[in-house]
Amino acid sequence: MSRTVYLNGEYLPEEEAKVSVFDRGFLFADGVYEVTTVLDGKLIDFDGHAMRLSRSLNELEMKNPISKEDLLEVHRELVARNGIEDGLIYLQVTRGAADRDFAYPKDAEPTIVLFTQAKPGLSTSPQAEVGIKVIGIEDQRWGRRDIKTVQLLYPSMGKMMAKAAGCDDAWLVEDGFVTEGTSNNAYIVKDGVLITRHLGHEILHGITRAAVLRFAREAQMKVEERPFTLKEAQGADEAFITSASTFVMPVVEIDGAAIGTGKPGAVAARLREIYLEESRKAAV
Ligand code: PLP
Repeated sequence: MSRTVYLNGEYLPEEEAKVSVFDRGFLFADGVYEVTTVLDGKLIDFDGHAMRLSRSLNELEMKNPISKEDLLEVHRELVARNGIEDGLIYLQVTRGAADRDFAYPKDAEPTIVLFTQAKPGLSTSPQAEVGIKVIGIEDQRWGRRDIKTVQLLYPSMGKMMAKAAGCDDAWLVEDGFVTEGTSNNAYIVKDGVLITRHLGHEILHGITRAAVLRFAREAQMKVEERPFTLKEAQGADEAFITSASTFVMPVVEIDGAAIGTGKPGAVAARLREIYLEESRKAAV
């Protein structure tokens, strides 16, 4: 069955939703996006995603085409129209269509698109029981990874490199230190201390990251926000990733080396449980 998507103020069957060939999202990757999770028909951390969207748009001097209230309404309407119980809502905003020129156009109207992906059973993924395997690769993305842009080619290449190596994902390494995963933030646990890279231009400021660090601190865990190497990660007791779509997902192998016992660790399992429980409670 065809989905209903949202395009510039209209709800349309996906086949009828069309964007100009001159759209700057297509020509220059001049656009930003967000992904919000739906569990039990409700939105997880909507406020966080709306705030990060504003920040990404501001950093690129792009107009925000929609108020937060209307954005919430569109999310809810798409959940209802597409009958989403568990799934994801993708939101893309580009600078809009204009004759091709590197300089930002003065009068282009932003393009805004939202679409859904149904993911039945998203929160009970069997992968969380066994964990994922990652490889380390060089981080060759641009320098403003804190802006959630639609330039996702290198992360896409990274996933393909991981797949070719018989793994699930790649951790990106810059100047010897892990920045993050291709589409998630990266963590290790050593002697009860949770370690993840500090915020900056080098990584995306994950909405799930912020929630998980808050829950870890509330549970009296010691948290260190600092860089770590792949070697340190291989010697850790546990490793895991976080993102809106994977929540907290254990990592059991890095570049062929088993992490801890080679099985998902207790800290990751506990944080996943707390995250899902608290996020469901606060969902809108
Ligand atoms: N880092 C990168 C590069 C990402 O693409 C993502 C999510 O898409 C994340 C981290 C996790 O962010 P969030 O928790 O907001 O999904």
